[in-house]
This record gives sequence, structure tokens and C-alpha cells, in this order.
Amino acid sequence: MTDVAAACAELATLAPLLTPALRRDRRDSGRYSRLEPLSLFNTDVLLARNRLVYEIPAAAIRSAHLVHETWPWRPIGTCLRVLPVYASRMEALNMATEHRQLEMLTRAWVLQTKRALGLRRPDVGPLADCPRCDTHPPGQLWMAGAEASLNPRDLTAPPHWVHDPRVYCPLCGASWPEPEWDHLARLVTVREMA
Ligand SMILES: [Zn+2]
Repeated sequence: MTDVAAACAELATLAPLLTPALRRDRRDSGRYSRLEPLSLFNTDVLLARNRLVYEIPAAAIRSAHLVHETWPWRPIGTCLRVLPVYASRMEALNMATEHRQLEMLTRAWVLQTKRALGLRRPDVGPLADCPRCDTHPPGQLWMAGAEASLNPRDLTAPPHWVHDPRVYCPLCGASWPEPEWDHLARLVTVREMA
């Protein structure tokens, strides 16, 4: 399964959980908190839901346009099924930049949705300038927080937490697993001395 297809499949499971979670307490950091009388909604969940509702159909329309098709405004469930198709079309048409942008966008939706639902622990950082970025200023490196997945066939099963120590750059999408950290440290030092 491609990255875009995997992200869209996960979003198809997670997105419908946002609305029922709207009135739930914030679950981040495990500290006790309760809803304030004037704050009826969990704002993290509200922001994630609003983002998906607008950005997913917009991305489907834009992707269709890029591969010379038309796609009207449709609900996000339908859009999530067509986005991997357009992603493959972009690859076939050698649209590497557009494909990469769609990949990063779908991943950003998954991350924000998981944070809102309490399925992603906070990242640690920023740690240093990204040695892979060629933009000014460069992106910042972060240590990724642990992330959980739900079983799409049994949403009542406990989330499956994965400990996958990784440093990543949210701007260019580069990521380094633990065995590559010595190498990464050298890259960061070289960049700082340049
Ligand atoms: Zn970067």
C-alpha cells in the first residue's frame, strides 16, 4: 500500500470518531481537566474536524485538476477513496513534487487527527535545524511522539501503541530512525559549522 493510500485508509477509520469526541475532555498529557462552562467543545477535536471537512474535499478537487480530471465537492469519505487513485496518476505522470505534497498533506491530517483523539503523544523539540532542508529558514527537527493505531474492524479494541523512535522534519518530510542518529548528528554539526 502506498503512503497516501495508507493515510487515507487510516483517516477513513479516524475521521468519523471526531464528531462523537467533540464533547469529550482533552486527553493530552494525561492530566486531569474538565470542560470549562464556556468551552463546550474540545477545541483540538473541533480544529481537526474542521480541517478535514474543508481540506480533504479541496485536495481532491485540486488533485483532479492536476491530473486533468474534474471532481465536484463530495463528502470526505468519498474523497478519501479517490485521493490514492489521483496519487498513483501523479506518479504515472512524473509529477513528483505534487505527489510528495499530497503525501505530506495526508500525513499531516493523520497526525492532527491522532493528536486530537489522544492517539499521538506530543513531539519533543525543536532539536536543531534540519540538514536536509534547502529552504531559508530550514525546518526544525523534532523527536516523534509515540503513536497508536486503531483496529478498523474492531474500534472497541485498545489502541495499538507503537514505539518507533524517529527524528523528523515536518517541513521537508525527512526522517531518521534511531540507527541513523549518529549520522544525523554529524550532518547537523557540519551544517552548523558551515
Ligand atoms: Zn527538512
